[in-house]
Amino acid sequence: MKYYAKPLNKLINELSKLPGIGGKTAQRLAFHILSMDDKSAAELAGSITDAKKSMTYCSVCGNLTDTDPCVICSDESRDRSIICVVESPKDVVAMEKIREYRGYYHVLHGAISPMDGVGPDDINLKSLIVRLQNEEVKELVIATNPNIEGEATAMYIARLIKPSGIRVTRIAHGIPVGGDLEYADEVTLLKAMEGRREL
Ligand SMILES: [Zn+2]
Repeated sequence: MKYYAKPLNKLINELSKLPGIGGKTAQRLAFHILSMDDKSAAELAGSITDAKKSMTYCSVCGNLTDTDPCVICSDESRDRSIICVVESPKDVVAMEKIREYRGYYHVLHGAISPMDGVGPDDINLKSLIVRLQNEEVKELVIATNPNIEGEATAMYIARLIKPSGIRVTRIAHGIPVGGDLEYADEVTLLKAMEGRREL
């Protein structure tokens, strides 16, 4: 875009790489950022750098965290007998918002998708097996998304874990098929959790 000077063009370009940000929005954001005072703009830039530098993945559950283990894994008051398996850290946030679930989590960072060449070894599954061998877990709640990949992942984990005698359940379909866990409202998610069934 020759209308813009190089630095502005670069800013628009970087912003437009963000999910859900089209060219027009990127342009609007860029102009907004340039209209900000120096301190606010520096804080925005600094918060991106700081978050990238200080956030890491929990070595136990795989959740995004600035401490290792994360605050959830370090919370001794939670129920050690139950682990909820989700696809992404955003799903942990969604589950925590319903305030009903008091167990621990395991974040897979994806789902099994043979079509996209994503197999069981490409997601954070091995560390789950290790956890199940070392922790006194009685129930594994599979809360992967209700789409083809999420279902395939749930079935795979169920087949893998059930022989060990651990109860494996799947959250109910209050969540629309093809929908994402992170977009489900709290009531829907609570109902889905309450209506979980044996796998
Ligand atoms: Zn953790």
